[in-house]
Amino acid sequence: MSNYKDVFLPGDRFIDYRELTELVEMISGRYKDLCRLESIGSSREGRIIHMLVLTDFKSGVPEDKPAYLIYGNIHACELAGSHAAIYTAARLVEEKPELLKEMVFYIIPRLNPDGAEFAVKTGGSIRSRTDTSIRTPNSLFQEDLDGNGLILSMRQVHPDGGLVADPFDPRLMIKRRFDSKGPFYRVFQEGKIHEWDGSDDITIGGRSFDWNRNWPYDWRPEPEQGGAGDYPFSEKEMRSMGEFISGRNNIFGILGYHTGPGAVLRPPSSGSDRDIDESDILLMEELASIGSKETGYPVIPVFKYHWNNRRDINLKGHFHNFGYNHLGLPVFEFELGTMHHSAGITTEERFSATSDKMEEEFKRRIMKWWDNDGRKFPLFVDWKEFMHPQLGKIEIGGFILSYFSNPALGDLEKIFKGTYNFTIEYARRRPRILIEDLSVEKRGDVYRIRAKVANRGAFSSSITRKGRTLARMKSVRVDFSTSDRTRLLSLKSCYNIGHMDANSSRTLEWFVESSGGPLGEIIVHAGTGGNFRLNVEA
Ligand SMILES: [Zn+2]
Repeated sequence: MSNYKDVFLPGDRFIDYRELTELVEMISGRYKDLCRLESIGSSREGRIIHMLVLTDFKSGVPEDKPAYLIYGNIHACELAGSHAAIYTAARLVEEKPELLKEMVFYIIPRLNPDGAEFAVKTGGSIRSRTDTSIRTPNSLFQEDLDGNGLILSMRQVHPDGGLVADPFDPRLMIKRRFDSKGPFYRVFQEGKIHEWDGSDDITIGGRSFDWNRNWPYDWRPEPEQGGAGDYPFSEKEMRSMGEFISGRNNIFGILGYHTGPGAVLRPPSSGSDRDIDESDILLMEELASIGSKETGYPVIPVFKYHWNNRRDINLKGHFHNFGYNHLGLPVFEFELGTMHHSAGITTEERFSATSDKMEEEFKRRIMKWWDNDGRKFPLFVDWKEFMHPQLGKIEIGGFILSYFSNPALGDLEKIFKGTYNFTIEYARRRPRILIEDLSVEKRGDVYRIRAKVANRGAFSSSITRKGRTLARMKSVRVDFSTSDRTRLLSLKSCYNIGHMDANSSRTLEWFVESSGGPLGEIIVHAGTGGNFRLNVEA
């Protein structure tokens, strides 16, 4: 490709699964030495969950290099995340071949291909997955009824209706108040009611799963935690993700892409900052502030990601608590924004809304912005009369959720530039375990080998204080393997150095007896710092 813009394509729509597949195939096809298309598994509906493995394959295998994992679109409607991941991959192969010699990026643009496909194709409402296999009477199931390909909203004039048309912008539905004038409406998702008994008691059908509540740390079942699923990693795609991460102790950073009020989110997702080592909070704040500077979005710990007048949130089975407590990593999520940001409504302004009236005003501003901007993409469909087979005369229309819950396509590149720069800055700080000052002294047939092992990265090999306490986080081990003509005289060949802080070093030595030629190899296993070997000559 001539440059990353060939694959960036925010143009006029969000990409579907076929287009996503074409893109990842194109990137891996054009940059064969730097990129391979792999997969972490397949989805429930049989779609392959694509993963781009980015590294210079000539300089070593991915498993031996420090690794940074990016995933997007765990939430079905948050399609900008897939685009952000693809954007990052395209720029990395194009601009960072030197970096790719030393580390690997695992990029999973669409962790939830089934849910995303539903969101792209219908614009309907979905979190991660909706199980519609059990159909209870009087529950409404989403369906495109008028044949326009979209699942929108249905509004029906009803004396009990809790909504009215907005007097300032009649396209919008606002809350019915004491002194509101009719007609009054009730609003449903577009669809049909299963075994309807004709009563007003209609519920929304299907069980909703939120995969960002399906991680194992402090997982709680429903209803204690909505969307949690049946047990940690019970969702197929999440289990693939869990197995992928658990199998790799070289991962030193994970970034998830979401859409919501723009923010750089950091742990913890429940409790308070007191649940986290103080120096780890400082590290996370320092890193997150880079993301904030690059995107203009505020740094917010997940438990504080809420409207100002509400209580702290308390998410169980959430990614941030998993990332920090299971993996010992200062993990992050970018909330890439929503249509509010494109209309000029900041996160701070949005979270300061203390009444429905303010939220309604935001929607008016969004509509005004969209109209004035020339309606460059579909956001809202005007209400149109329709004869519903059960409810009779209704109207279908409203926001297309897949567009409403993402920033405007035209704003994506600017946002992604910021998140890309954050990733580069994080990656620059990777643990860099290397051997400095290798020396060999000869006394007859005996050789004294001395090697200074150092960490010249900005992260400790344990990344965090928490990581230092975790069994899964591999500390630094240095071994000497003798060649055929060499015999080890030292009592031990292997040093377990423990974790190495940034700018620390340790000098190791071995005595060997040899009749000449190559003496052997120093083999370094450094976990997040990668693995490597160094030949030692006589
Ligand atoms: Zn999300």
